[in-house]
Amino acid sequence: MVATVASDVRTLRNFVGGRWVDADGVSTQEIRNPATDEVVARVPLTGAAEVDAAVQAAQAAFPAWRATPPQERARYFFALRQKLEEHKDELARLIVTEMGKTLDDAKGEVQRGIDNVETACGIPSLMMGYGLEDGAARGIDEEVVFQPLGVFAAITPYNFPFMIAFWFLPYAVATGNTFVLKPSELDPGVQQRVFELIEECGFPPGVINLLNGGVDAATGLLDHPLVKGVSFVGSTKVAAAVYARGAANGKRVQASGGAKNAIVVMPDANMDAYLSTMMNSFYGAAGQRCLANSLVLPVGGAHAAARDRIVEAARSIRLGDGLEPGVHLGPVVSAAARDRIVQAIDDGVAEGAEPVLDGRNAHVPERPKGYFVGPTLLDGVTPRMGVYKDEIFGPVVGMTPVADLDEAIALINAAEYGNAASIFTESGGAARKFRYDVETGNIGINVGVAAPVSAFPFSGAKRSFFGTLHPQGRDVVRFYTESKVVITRWTTGDGSPVTGVGR
Ligand code: NAD
Repeated sequence: MVATVASDVRTLRNFVGGRWVDADGVSTQEIRNPATDEVVARVPLTGAAEVDAAVQAAQAAFPAWRATPPQERARYFFALRQKLEEHKDELARLIVTEMGKTLDDAKGEVQRGIDNVETACGIPSLMMGYGLEDGAARGIDEEVVFQPLGVFAAITPYNFPFMIAFWFLPYAVATGNTFVLKPSELDPGVQQRVFELIEECGFPPGVINLLNGGVDAATGLLDHPLVKGVSFVGSTKVAAAVYARGAANGKRVQASGGAKNAIVVMPDANMDAYLSTMMNSFYGAAGQRCLANSLVLPVGGAHAAARDRIVEAARSIRLGDGLEPGVHLGPVVSAAARDRIVQAIDDGVAEGAEPVLDGRNAHVPERPKGYFVGPTLLDGVTPRMGVYKDEIFGPVVGMTPVADLDEAIALINAAEYGNAASIFTESGGAARKFRYDVETGNIGINVGVAAPVSAFPFSGAKRSFFGTLHPQGRDVVRFYTESKVVITRWTTGDGSPVTGVGR
């Protein structure tokens, strides 16, 4: 079916060197509203020439920006925080229109992004060095300062088109680097608006740049000799490739990848208190979160109760356009994503899983062209099935009953991914064993979506994260700066060392 294309559909622009520029002569791609299938904008697929222009602009801005005192740099972020706060609702609506999540969820995403701007406002304290008098020897002092490196780039995914850019941008820039953002080509409209607000804050030209595009733009950044480091979030296959390519080009890289997170429901879990956080973790954002729990491992007698409660709660989930009040579950991002998710459910059923809840034929009468998949629960999923192993990234949950906590932990630790895992229990002993033994970067204890706030690192392990230093938290200063050690001694006129003893 051919979608309606409004005649006034805009083509997004790049923001380079403090100016809005058209990416002339490159092909464009349609951005569609996943609830309606309407084309809302076109995104230019920027090529090598535009990448070079953006990186050169960032490089030119670096010396003066680096020399701007951290407290002054932070003031730009106080201003940006205020702008984002004032435009929260508008930004959230843009997210819904291109990505599909519900408006409440999108507002939460905007808040999480703003949280990072607020944390970056503390950069004068965060990036302080340390030192020790007589640290090297008597009369010889030693200290560390953290210095910015130059141009950093971030390549971000579609599922949090606002927030994830803010895992990087505020910290890279507040520490004194300059920056190029390449958002996902599926839903870049919200970043276009963010950059209009960035422009209003008066950052010096070239300090923060926006490049729209896909693989070519990303590859151009990974290959550009002036880019010192790259922050990436996306699927594991791409994260691994980005990490390897960036490292081969001598850059520092942090690359967050995909996930397949499990929750363990113990027989003593308080389902009354925690069912809603579990449901949010399964079906929030239509399962398109890297912290979505897409596997349930009920222990022993917890199986029947967990299954019945999830089925019952799913009955009240209202599917629809995320902009409509009262909707809990919006569409998935694209028609291709919907088809892929439906195929994954088909495959799971063909492999023997039981579709206790089946979202394959979801239909929203008021949005007949939307890319909807209903909440799905497959029981009897075994570790050998694709629906157990593969990241589906849709509202699809597999249930794999286990005999005890040891079996649950062994299953989680055998997985290729290591993003997050949660346990629901009233037992401190079970919870401690879980947090101690489980090999994932983020752990929830009676928490469905174990999402670290801005002051803590957004962790990840195994093939969910490539690198050492994570987004957010104290890791940011180390990732975006180099530590320089200064060892100092002074002598008096006669050449003897200035020590603390009478000199
Ligand atoms: P994706 O890997 O398809 O794309 C992510 C970004 O990489 C986009 O900007 C895209 O243009 C770019 N890209 C695509 N191919 C590339 C290539 N060959 N080289 C360089 N760049 C390339 O991911 P997506 O579908 O946009 O996002 C969903 C994925 O992101 C899921 O797997 C999800 O789990 C993951 N994710 C992880 C985290 C985390 O913190 N671990 C957070 C959010 C999303």
